[in-house]
Amino acid sequence: LAWTACGLRTVALILNFVVTPNLNFREITALDRLSWWGGETVSVAVGVTNPWTLVGQLSLLVFFVFVVDATVRVWRRGEQRRALVVGGTMILFVVIAAGQPALVIWGLIRAPFFIAFPYLGIVAVMAYELSMDVLRAAKLSADLQDSQQRIRLAAEATRLALWTLDVARNVIWVSPEGRPLYNLPPHEEVTLERFTGTVHPNDRKAAREALESALTGEGRFSAEFRVMLADGTARWITALGRTTFHEDGRALQLRGVSLDITERKRAELEAQQNRNELTHLSRVTMLGELSGSLAHELNQPLAAILSNAQAALRFLARDHADLAEVREILDDIVTQDKRAGEVIHRLRLLLKKGEVQRELLDANEIVLEVMKLVRSDLVNQHVSAETELASHPPAVLGDRVQLQQVLLNLVMNACDAMTAAAPTDRHITVRTDRADVARIGVEVRDHGRGIPEEDLERVFQPFYTTKVNGLGLGLSVCRTIISAHGGSLVARNNEEGGATFYFTLPIEKELGG
Ligand code: ADP
Repeated sequence: LAWTACGLRTVALILNFVVTPNLNFREITALDRLSWWGGETVSVAVGVTNPWTLVGQLSLLVFFVFVVDATVRVWRRGEQRRALVVGGTMILFVVIAAGQPALVIWGLIRAPFFIAFPYLGIVAVMAYELSMDVLRAAKLSADLQDSQQRIRLAAEATRLALWTLDVARNVIWVSPEGRPLYNLPPHEEVTLERFTGTVHPNDRKAAREALESALTGEGRFSAEFRVMLADGTARWITALGRTTFHEDGRALQLRGVSLDITERKRAELEAQQNRNELTHLSRVTMLGELSGSLAHELNQPLAAILSNAQAALRFLARDHADLAEVREILDDIVTQDKRAGEVIHRLRLLLKKGEVQRELLDANEIVLEVMKLVRSDLVNQHVSAETELASHPPAVLGDRVQLQQVLLNLVMNACDAMTAAAPTDRHITVRTDRADVARIGVEVRDHGRGIPEEDLERVFQPFYTTKVNGLGLGLSVCRTIISAHGGSLVARNNEEGGATFYFTLPIEKELGG
């Protein structure tokens, strides 16, 4: 509409110079003298109206429609005050500026042209609006400076590096304060390749993938990676960002912040090591408790080996040694030796201090291995044990030694809880089952004294113990181990007396039956 109004006005201007005497009159027949404003005399042309004047008036009409349309839009946008003041006043002045001369030209009123005055009004309104804009801009710029300073202060205080990736140009702006974080010189232009070049080769792939998903998917960037420093050490950095997209879905910019988390990583590593140490310590302590019965477990095959060897010697001392008999005895010795070897092997595995190793495991196997280890201990304490194992349970991903440790701990606690019970009542059940579609469950049920209801959670706290020589670390370590495996460990009391400890582990893979 605005362009049409301008176009029509230009045509009217040209016509005004082309037709004689002008756009408004085909012929001026007289000059009317009007007395105006306290005796002032004003001359007004009188003549035959030129039909071309309609072009000029049409341009004013279009301009009027444009102003009305703009006013309505501003009103609808919710800026009622602005629509009323600017739009309303402009409409009023446009009507006067267009209408009054038209009435004069068409000879309907006798008056001088009053064009300049209403246009002065329009200019005044525009000037008012512009100066308001200038004031607003000044305030905005002050606000902007304020917020920039706040951001800089926050970035400095937290030692954040701010950065923006211009996707089309493949260039990254990095705040001057943030450049040292990435080991970048102050004024060098940084391309994406230069930037990824600073990242540790082992972390580059993950960082690239995070970037790609931020530029295509949800528009969120999040990555942790190492940056190589000149002295060969690495700095851990966490980076977060958001992408802005064009309407057509193209990624325009990725803005983000980076933070040095080397200290945190070091602390995490240290905490992990401490946890491993503690887990190991608690395992060794537990095995210490078992040592008596383990020695017994070893003694049995050793005693058998000894008596078998002596028997063999006796056989050989005879004149006609029965070699078939001797072979049988030697076979027996080999079997017993293997049995002793297995006990030592299992023990060595548990005593070993190693990194946590995740492998696919069968929960039933773990249960059976642990039951073998505690067999003698159970016999000594007159505890009968029963296993109810799920058939073909799905595999779980975990550390064999740690999971054995958990089960061993639960079984030994169960035995300890039953020392006061009559030997005929000392019975534990170890069960494996499928907790739900995603988890399998393992439970150790005893007939001991149970746990006071208010202590069902407390027993998992470190150093909580009711035993004279207890450390109170076993269950707390068990829970840490199970949590680290993505499962949960809980205690509850049985209706028929005694307690049940139950833990779940996420299923990694169905084992073929
Ligand atoms: P500790 O065995 O060194 O005391 P734990 O963390 O293994 O450390 O156990 C903490 C406490 O939880 C035990 O002292 C005992 O009071 C209680 N508890 C553990 N298992 C059972 C159970 N099966 N029945 C009753 N109480 C138990």
